[in-house]
Amino acid sequence: MTNKNIANTFRLLAELMELHGENPFKIRSYEVAARTIEQYPQPLAAVPASQIEDLPGVGKAIAGKISDLLKTGTFDLLDRLLAVTPAGITEMLQIKGLGPKKVKILWQELNIESVGELLYACQENRLLHLKGFGEKTQENVKKSVEYFLANAKYYRYADMEPEALYLQQAFAQLPGVERVELTGAFRRKCEVLEFADLLIAGNWSNLQNWCSQLQITLLAVQEQTATAQSATGLPLQLHNATAQNFAYRLLQTTAAPAHWQQLIAIKEPNPGSHNETDIYQQLGLPFIEPELREGLDEIELARHGQLPPQLLQITDITGIIHAHSTYSDGRDPLETMARACMAAGYLYLGISDHSKAAFYANGLAEAAIIKQHEEVDRLNQTLAPFRIFKGIEADILNDGSLDYNHEVLQSFDFVIASIHSTLQMTEEKAMTRLIRAIENPHTTILGHLTGRLLLSRAGYPVNHRKIIDACAANKVIIEINANPYRLDIDWRWIPYCMEKGALISVNPDAHSTAGIDDVKYGVFAARKGKLTKEYTLNTRTPNEIARIFTQK
Ligand SMILES: [Zn+2]
Ligand SMILES: [Zn+2]
Repeated sequence: MTNKNIANTFRLLAELMELHGENPFKIRSYEVAARTIEQYPQPLAAVPASQIEDLPGVGKAIAGKISDLLKTGTFDLLDRLLAVTPAGITEMLQIKGLGPKKVKILWQELNIESVGELLYACQENRLLHLKGFGEKTQENVKKSVEYFLANAKYYRYADMEPEALYLQQAFAQLPGVERVELTGAFRRKCEVLEFADLLIAGNWSNLQNWCSQLQITLLAVQEQTATAQSATGLPLQLHNATAQNFAYRLLQTTAAPAHWQQLIAIKEPNPGSHNETDIYQQLGLPFIEPELREGLDEIELARHGQLPPQLLQITDITGIIHAHSTYSDGRDPLETMARACMAAGYLYLGISDHSKAAFYANGLAEAAIIKQHEEVDRLNQTLAPFRIFKGIEADILNDGSLDYNHEVLQSFDFVIASIHSTLQMTEEKAMTRLIRAIENPHTTILGHLTGRLLLSRAGYPVNHRKIIDACAANKVIIEINANPYRLDIDWRWIPYCMEKGALISVNPDAHSTAGIDDVKYGVFAARKGKLTKEYTLNTRTPNEIARIFTQK
């Protein structure tokens, strides 16, 4: 169980307590604890109980609950509250824009006890005259419910990753298992996915036995594939292979159905092939990276030798751009962030705290900027040749302007322009704001293009082509925000960025030293978009980056 899982459990607890009208001070204390837990740098599962107790806002009682949670997956108070709450109500708490107060009204006033009933009630306009609701709220709730229902069965890659890797290891250690690989959408590094797919070489008649040893519940077993559920509820697809057909089965199970169909339309590959390269060769194709095997245009491009010979790799990334420090809403001080980048082998850090309009994130007033720049100058002396670039994540205001004057914007090495407020917009409004920000001569990088949060918020509607055209024309670099909740710009638009000659920067948007590693999720997504080193800003030397920043 990750710290995020634990924190989310306490958030659920707080919401359930609010739903049932319990003591607001207690509720607040669980919310505070959730925040502490989420930001704690080590996994709590590996921290001694006595130390957990001493964390700010935690204490003995909450530490006891954490300990129960880690051992059994739940604790008493949570069980009691869940027992008196219909499952559909608990599910409704996950819907954006609802919260316990509104869920309570829906439950008590309209007897709505499930997400499906809620959608129906919206269609029947039953929320219109409800206290605290109204036409606009009903419209928003309806949209959120539709989004929720469409995405409920999906996981974000990074949320699935720890358990998927654990299961691979656990299977590998079972007697009779010769080899195990993660395959399917996981191996294709899909940003959201339904199952963890595992390919297992060994005698399939052992499957039941293997699964019971790992507390996996088998749901349906077929000749070569089984569906199952892990002890924590993660949906699994288990695929069978032998030592002889392993490469063939790995390719077959990795491929999206359309990719496999296109391959076998050329020729049925030899099941005894040694490796995947051999298989592609038999079909007259170069090796196609797993991330690309979506059945889009990759086979056509491969056939004509038009796939990039080498996709971007994590080892190509030379430095970190887009990070926050304690100057705004980051958890770690600037120097700590810089030293963490150095320790990870990076050559530079582009610090970009929030700008002053972001009051909710402690955005920087002009005096704080001067102070930060002095500290950067000092650190650049002591940490050389490591280099810190002076940046800012400037809010794109409602009218598309940035929230500092010319002189202040001039004082930065680079400016990331991002939208953080009034996210509910028409496409026309979003486009006006974005284009104006892109045309601002101070804008160096366009931050998280659509504002989406995977599986929880769709992002404002934009015309991607026009935005990318404008970025290319104004030499604005496009961010792929590597936070696994964002991965925004969507990788499907990267080929168009490259076609137009727009550079991409793979930015972790780190809010702590731990967040720096998120850059890898950006690289995964970028590879799906066929991004190469040449088109990536932060594969360059610090001097080259400095030149690109000043040429802007
Ligand atoms: Zn941002
Ligand atoms: Zn940011």
